[in-house]
Amino acid sequence: MGTAMELTAPPVTRFAPSPNGRLHLGHALSAIVAHDLAKANGGRFLLRIEDIDGPRSQPQLAEEFRQDLAWLGLEWEEVPAQSTRLASYAAAAETLKARGLLYPCTCTRSEIEAAGARPGLEGLIYPGTCKRTPPDPARPAAWRLDAERALAQTGPLMWEDDLAGPQAVDLTGLGDVVLVRKDLPASYHLAVTLDDAADGVTLVTRGADLFAASHVHRTFQALLGLPVPRWHHHLLLRDADGQKLAKRRGSPALAERREAGEDGQVLAEQLRLQQLTLGT
Ligand code: GLU
Ligand code: ZN
Repeated sequence: MGTAMELTAPPVTRFAPSPNGRLHLGHALSAIVAHDLAKANGGRFLLRIEDIDGPRSQPQLAEEFRQDLAWLGLEWEEVPAQSTRLASYAAAAETLKARGLLYPCTCTRSEIEAAGARPGLEGLIYPGTCKRTPPDPARPAAWRLDAERALAQTGPLMWEDDLAGPQAVDLTGLGDVVLVRKDLPASYHLAVTLDDAADGVTLVTRGADLFAASHVHRTFQALLGLPVPRWHHHLLLRDADGQKLAKRRGSPALAERREAGEDGQVLAEQLRLQQLTLGT
């Protein structure tokens, strides 16, 4: 007979930055939260470089990210980058297509706007143009998840956030999301869900700005028979005006702080204690 401690496996968490730009304080907080939740519970903390964003991806940033994490005093295991896993995304997309759960969409952003799309939790909700009228097969197409059909197959689903508690899957705020981009064999949603499963991640930690995405990810897990992790969406750093801290607001990159001689472990401690004076 095991005790409760033995029955709860140590968590596997990850930090999954995209090398599209340098890391900032918000990324540092995400990495620290994931690292500490794993290490405090005897678990593993993984680093995965999410480098499938074609033209925006800058491979040299991956090395900078490793230096940033080491400077913050974190220890990690690195798992293969997304660019090595394209075949697994294509295979999952084919499975979903064969089940009639994806449909091609050739709409451009301006066509979606012109069709009177409503704002949702993650930008505009796709108004369903190509679902009603199949598009010209000669035009490049993305593939969207038919949310209604997907949930008809899965039935009601739940997921569990450490901070927000149990959540019933609701895709109405997101609509029919893109699973396969026009230019890539996956979208963020498909790649991250497959990778977290492949890497054995049991506690998905990320900022609260990605909370809504977890409804989609939980749906894929059900459709593809993947293990279901727990989630931990942490609060975002705010500046002195209560605004979300964003790169464009002039916060220096971690690498700039590092190169200027700042002590990364002191910074990490301040982030843990939320004792930063932001927005200066
Ligand atoms: N690559 C994503 C990002 O940098 C990761 C998000 C996630 O943790 O799921 O925003
Ligand atoms: Zn369309």
